[in-house]
Amino acid sequence: MEDRFYKNVLDHLHDGIYFVDRERRITYWNQGAERLTGYSAAEMVGRYCHDNLLNHVDDKAQPLCLDRCPLAHTMEDGEPREAEVYLHHKQGHRLPVEVRTTPLHDEQGQVLGGIEIFSDNSAKMAIVQERRQLEKLAMLDPLTEVGNRHYAEIQINNIIQENTRYSWPFGLLFIDIDHFKQVNDRFGHAIGDMVLRMTARTMTNSLRTFDQVCRWGGEEFVAIVKNVDREQLSIVAEKVRFFVESSYLTIKDESLNVTVSIGGAIIRADDTMPLLIERADRLMYRAKSGGRNAVALE
Ligand code: GH3
Ligand code: MG
Ligand code: MG
Repeated sequence: MEDRFYKNVLDHLHDGIYFVDRERRITYWNQGAERLTGYSAAEMVGRYCHDNLLNHVDDKAQPLCLDRCPLAHTMEDGEPREAEVYLHHKQGHRLPVEVRTTPLHDEQGQVLGGIEIFSDNSAKMAIVQERRQLEKLAMLDPLTEVGNRHYAEIQINNIIQENTRYSWPFGLLFIDIDHFKQVNDRFGHAIGDMVLRMTARTMTNSLRTFDQVCRWGGEEFVAIVKNVDREQLSIVAEKVRFFVESSYLTIKDESLNVTVSIGGAIIRADDTMPLLIERADRLMYRAKSGGRNAVALE
């Protein structure tokens, strides 16, 4: 009775919560965790943290699960921890979450296991609201749920006008998925679509909330990166590149990931949208000819 009461309370929290035993085997997985990760309790309970299903990474896409796991450290020294990490969602994309870890003790003070609580860190509400608005205006790409080309053109024209008037700098990234045709050929068009959705979500989640990624067409995207110089644009572009590389879908026990080639240009005085796009596009091709999975800036 009491157990059911607590389970009910935990399941109704918005946050994801899971318990692990001393061997870091998952013993409990609430509905919030199911919602946030896409993995059900049936899939997770009984698995080990280090089975790497969630594959937590830091903001440089470096893996944490083997030797830098905050939950494992908490269980070693009894200290609660907080960290901002990115987990692997079942649909493939990287999701930014804030995790808090606490040790679980028995009455004698021995460590029985640990609890991890995690919440969505992607400023999701703002994104959801913007999506609804775009849908109404027919400017949302229905497959990837980012703005479509028409929307991108409006946004780029607006930001160029802002730049003319106030000199606020910005950068534009032209992003093309590498060898995407092979993904379709090998796995079929439906999986190709899932990869496009995963890549768009990962890119949205790796950009700052006021930056925007839109689908330019096919497997090509543009990102508008506000208030940056060349150096900062390069950091943002690298982050997009390595987050895409570290996102993956699991297809019949095989993991499927893609990479992107990115060209990045900074707005110039007297720029027009076609000129700016053309420069970024040309640089993207330079990244391709340099071997792909790369960033080229002017
Ligand atoms: P590269 O590294 O040179 O960019 O190679 P690529 O294979 O990515 O480039 P290519 O332009 O030859 O192929 C792009 C492919 O993207 C071909 C097209 O069928 C596929 N594609 C475009 N739009 C969609 C879509 O909405 N869904 C799926 N599944 N595939 C798409
Ligand atoms: Mg292309
Ligand atoms: Mg391509």
